[in-house]
Amino acid sequence: MAKQDPYRIYLTEEQIPKQWLNIRGFMKDKPDPMIHPGTGKPIVKEDLLPIFCDELAAQELDEDNKYVDIPDEVREFYKLYRPSPLCRAYNLEKALGTPAKIYYKFEGNNTSGSHKLNAAVPMAYYAKEQGLKGLTTETGAGQWGTALSIACKYYGLDLCVYMVSGSFKQKPYRKAVIETYGAKIIASPSNTTNAGRAVLAEHPDTSGSLGCAISEAVEVAVQDPSLRYVLGSVMNQVLLHQSVIGIESKTAMEQLNAYPDIIIGCAGGGSNLGGLIAPFVADKLEGKANPYIIAVEPASCPSLTRGTYAYDFGDIAKITPLVKMYTLGCEFLPSPNHAGGLRYHGMSPLVSKLYHDKLIDKAISAEQTKVFEAAKLFAQSETILPAPESSHAIYAAVQEALKCKESGEAKTILFGLTGTGYFDMTAYMDFNAGTMGDYIPTDEEIKIK
Ligand SMILES: *Cc1c(COP(=O)(O)O)cnc(C)c1O
Repeated sequence: MAKQDPYRIYLTEEQIPKQWLNIRGFMKDKPDPMIHPGTGKPIVKEDLLPIFCDELAAQELDEDNKYVDIPDEVREFYKLYRPSPLCRAYNLEKALGTPAKIYYKFEGNNTSGSHKLNAAVPMAYYAKEQGLKGLTTETGAGQWGTALSIACKYYGLDLCVYMVSGSFKQKPYRKAVIETYGAKIIASPSNTTNAGRAVLAEHPDTSGSLGCAISEAVEVAVQDPSLRYVLGSVMNQVLLHQSVIGIESKTAMEQLNAYPDIIIGCAGGGSNLGGLIAPFVADKLEGKANPYIIAVEPASCPSLTRGTYAYDFGDIAKITPLVKMYTLGCEFLPSPNHAGGLRYHGMSPLVSKLYHDKLIDKAISAEQTKVFEAAKLFAQSETILPAPESSHAIYAAVQEALKCKESGEAKTILFGLTGTGYFDMTAYMDFNAGTMGDYIPTDEEIKIK
């Protein structure tokens, strides 16, 4: 047999990055600033301090540094589950009969089942360093709440998670996992906050929303000076922390003398995509290479492909700063028939800017039945049961590999496999039974109000 790449390339502990990569430091034309909705002026650090930890507020506004040191204590935690493997999808390539080389970076090898832990660890660490007692957050599908509960327990912090009540009821095992790590989890809307009580008074039977859960978590944090609020995607700080995904991918590919022609990531709030592409976008900005970058989102929540690039609120209650992003309007709620995560109305302002400036070359949307077809093919060939969110990237990788089959080009494709799908079995059951449907919102539904 000819010498071939290994199936999985594991870097050493020593090769875990020592610095995160800040894409904004490489950009000449920076993303538009966050705006204070009250004053109409750009947000300054002091505006953020009542809500976010000091260090995270600084990272959020840092447009200048190209690299940010990863604290030793954070690297020690990363060693518990990193470096994550870069895998060569030989069996998927064979199943597709493509000459393309397909690589994927697998981030599902930790208890949160996703890349979310990469950002949860530094956030909890900085809160502990600041002498805070605890954190609050919201969670939709549950991966973020799980990741943060693991990190908070490790650093000895209290955590209160507001979980969207619809999802809280559908995924009782998420609650069990989060409570095992000692965090408090409350279905939102709840009667523990003014925001929650107001929503309950008006809609006693509501299944909740991310926007409402954010309002509750922020309310609790700002009322107690020993608490802060943290968010698991969208923000610049999260993309910064997630750059470990891209840096490790690039290092592993260098060891194989490979460089991606095409890079693909799924896009919900934009954090895994922004992290995966970080060092490659830096190469583009420095004129060193020009990989083709594709973002993939659900057809039922199509912010990049059908949204408007405009200033909008991050939440439905309109309590966050205004950010310039591709948005479906802060009141947009994806159809209840949409199974997975990736249900945020907006998009990371940094990813939005990169897409607007064509540094992200293409965005596509995929219907969920097509996504689950790709998920099933991947599970059967590569043995990993992918998360529905991750399967959007698989779908696009398959499309690109099939194009290579047609043209005979042996392109190198890299995609992010963000997590596993063990908590999404209801969706897999619907797909296997043939009862899963697709929903594509009308233009009227995604019009900014
Ligand atoms: C949260 C999540 C996503 C989407 O979030 P991004 O911020 O867009 O990366 C994708 N995949 C998995 C497994 C997730 O948990």
